[in-house]
Amino acid sequence: MPKQVVVLGATGSIGCSTLDVIAQHPDLYQVLALTGGKRLDVLFAQCMQFRPRYAALSDAADAAELQRQLQQAGLTTEVVAGADALAELAAHPDAEIVMAAIVGAAGLLPTLAAVKAGKTVLLANKEALVMSGELFIRAVQQHGATLLPIDSEHNAIFQCLPAALQQHCYQSELQTAGIAKILLTGSGGPFRQTPLNAFDQITPEQAVAHPNWNMGKKISVDSATMMNKGLEFIEARWLFNCGVSDIQVVIHPQSIIHSMVQYTDGSVLAQLGNPDMRTPIAHALAFPARIASNVKPLNFFEVPAFTFDKPDPERYPCLYLAQQACAAGQGATTALNAANEIAVEAFLNRQIRFPQIAALNAQVLDHFASSKVADLEEILSLDSQARVYSLKLLKDWS
Ligand code: NAD
Ligand code: MG
Repeated sequence: MPKQVVVLGATGSIGCSTLDVIAQHPDLYQVLALTGGKRLDVLFAQCMQFRPRYAALSDAADAAELQRQLQQAGLTTEVVAGADALAELAAHPDAEIVMAAIVGAAGLLPTLAAVKAGKTVLLANKEALVMSGELFIRAVQQHGATLLPIDSEHNAIFQCLPAALQQHCYQSELQTAGIAKILLTGSGGPFRQTPLNAFDQITPEQAVAHPNWNMGKKISVDSATMMNKGLEFIEARWLFNCGVSDIQVVIHPQSIIHSMVQYTDGSVLAQLGNPDMRTPIAHALAFPARIASNVKPLNFFEVPAFTFDKPDPERYPCLYLAQQACAAGQGATTALNAANEIAVEAFLNRQIRFPQIAALNAQVLDHFASSKVADLEEILSLDSQARVYSLKLLKDWS
């Protein structure tokens, strides 16, 4: 029997790559539900191809229109709308695997709903862990969910862990397993060599053009500031139960090594491959088996020479803000995530300049650094307070 899969954020970059892998294995996977925020036309085409039992869009009018179009095309797919509907689909009794690929804070509640229903959750939505790491991991343990990382670095680290640790890496002691360090690699983004005095002139078009990966706009800007690596630092802290000093960020511009694990005996294990998200997606879908992904095999006679570098704090202040927030605690990372979502959107809308992303993040983090959050309600409340504060700063600046 094929496994029933729910794809949250199906119309995005990760969602489309997930469906590409699923389409290669109709005997193994069947789509139960597809959800998208706004892109009705894309979701319509995906429904025609995968014939899911359910589809969802954020807006009720869009959902009604999609329902009409699908009915006209002879499909029985039921179209639902809104955030509660997403959570219900994520926890649907027939769902076995849930791909969490909504971008940003909007992904938290549906992803958590899948966790609380004990599903196998394929986690691309790193912001969910940044916002609620401790609570999220506790829910995974309490409800017997399985969490598999999709972020290429975390998927690489997971693949380099001993098999016994993979079963419960988020609650095991890395030291006991002989692990000395997690080496989190990142390309350094499109502005690795841009003179710092030219940062003021960086445009959204330049920022979203990543040298190695083809991704959604928000994560592309995050890669340019290296906030993405900062969010991934926090994500790794929760996924692999490690402290701030156990993770080291290494710039590797070629993006062929996707991350590494350094052991106490001197061994370093790395996972390599061409930069294509279908590899981690196929890995997590089939884990612990392996399936084809249609990713171009790595040819060592063609790969560029590997280089490594330390991230420069002046060039990448956002990375250091995230590490600072990670050390400060859950309130700080929740607030920083909210500020960053507002800052990136403002930059994409040309309201602020590129260096102001870090400036806004720094001010908001400073303001909320010692905030404490005890439960989901307090996390969501802090998230909205940090957004209001960020918007107020933006207004003051304009
Ligand atoms: P994207 O912008 O291409 O897609 C985002 C998806 O979320 C779309 O389907 C969109 O419709 C949906 N969405 C957005 N806002 C929503 C809302 N309010 N309610 C419901 N749905 C909403 O983003 P992406 O690049 O696919 O990234 C998705 C997630 O995966 C992000 O958290 C990102 O950090 C992570 N990730 C992406 C990549 C990549 O290569 N793209 C790699 C690693 C991790
Ligand atoms: Mg990544």
